[in-house]
Amino acid sequence: MLRLPKFELRTPTSLEQALELLAEAGPSALVVAGGTDLVPNMKHELFTPELVVSLAGIAELRGIQRDREGALVIGAMTSLEEVAASELVRAQAPALAQACSLVAGPQLRTMGTLGGNVMLDTRCQWYNQTYFWRKALGFCMKKDGELCHVVAGGKNCVAAASNDSAPALMTLGAALEFESMTGARTTPIDELWLADGIRNKKVEHGEILTRVRVPATGAGHRGAYGKLRDRGSIDFPLLGVAVRLELDAGQRIERADIVVTALAAQPKRIAKLADALHGVAIDSEDFERACESAAQLAYKQCRPLPNIPGDHEYRREMVPVYVRRTLRAAAARSGPVHHM
Ligand SMILES: Cc1cc2nc3c(=O)[nH]c(=O)nc-3n(C[C@H](O)[C@H](O)[C@H](O)COP(=O)(O)OP(=O)(O)OC[C@H]3O[C@@H](n4cnc5c(N)ncnc54)[C@H](O)[C@@H]3O)c2cc1C
Ligand code: SF4
Repeated sequence: MLRLPKFELRTPTSLEQALELLAEAGPSALVVAGGTDLVPNMKHELFTPELVVSLAGIAELRGIQRDREGALVIGAMTSLEEVAASELVRAQAPALAQACSLVAGPQLRTMGTLGGNVMLDTRCQWYNQTYFWRKALGFCMKKDGELCHVVAGGKNCVAAASNDSAPALMTLGAALEFESMTGARTTPIDELWLADGIRNKKVEHGEILTRVRVPATGAGHRGAYGKLRDRGSIDFPLLGVAVRLELDAGQRIERADIVVTALAAQPKRIAKLADALHGVAIDSEDFERACESAAQLAYKQCRPLPNIPGDHEYRREMVPVYVRRTLRAAAARSGPVHHM
């Protein structure tokens, strides 16, 4: 049985108290939300904080509301289950509701939060292992060592962004609100990422993600999420595909966006979709041809690495399959794409 190392736990009831605790303790402190990723990582000695500051008692970080402009404002401590089940989110941001509904399994979605999902550490099959296992292999650059087992002689860690909500939030143009003792800032989620698997987010120590803001969408909005994983009931993505379509009154595609994840350190937006999809009516025969063109574009642009479990060549072959299926699902509003 893996045991947790010793640490101090503090349970503030206000954001201000939490920020003060983090600022006082410095880099030896971490926040815990639902703990569904932090706790296993602590057991694996990947994270070894002296102080853990729980956000569970801070009521102001929970809940889903719509602001005056119609944007969804989702508290970072809102559970994934609540986001997935919310009528507001399902209507206005279907790709996000679907992505959250496919994270892990029911117990983990009840404990796990949207904020914890956005802030999730990258994953690698050589990293998400016990201390004993990692030591036997001479560790790796991301923790305790100097090698990379994925790219021989590699100078950059390529551990994979594996948070299902991230690509959906990117297609939705979401903004993230952070607070620290030095003030508040808002950043578009597109600008959160770094191409570095060791630390793939531009976030300073002492900053807490407080809210996720998803701009309003209109009647022509369509979105869907597709996820390849080993076990339909629980696993991290081997591939995640978020799709957004904006349709005009004649059901033609005015704007399209596809973001793919679980490839490398940051989610990847598929470029040059306009020629393939723009102007195509989703109820015409052209739509199938357009889906095929978009699928082939994604295939050319996505090269999964042997960083997470699952044969990377197989994961690459699945890119066009999941892009095609997720585009069709978005157009038909038929729900998430996954196998059971
Ligand atoms: C068996 C298993 C399967 C899983 N499958 C999936 C999956 O399919 N897809 C997926 O995306 N995830 C998966 N997860 C990971 C995890 O359950 C989810 O990502 C979950 O959303 C994490 O949220 P949490 O609230 O539990 O975060 P925590 O574990 O509490 O925190 C995660 C990280 O975020 C930081 N953090 C948390 N909240 C904040 C905040 N508000 N501000 C700043 N930093 C913060 C923490 O310090 C920590 O580094 C799985 C986990 C397990 C154990
Ligand atoms: S890609 Fe994997 S093996 Fe390579 S440094 Fe990163 S975590 Fe370690």
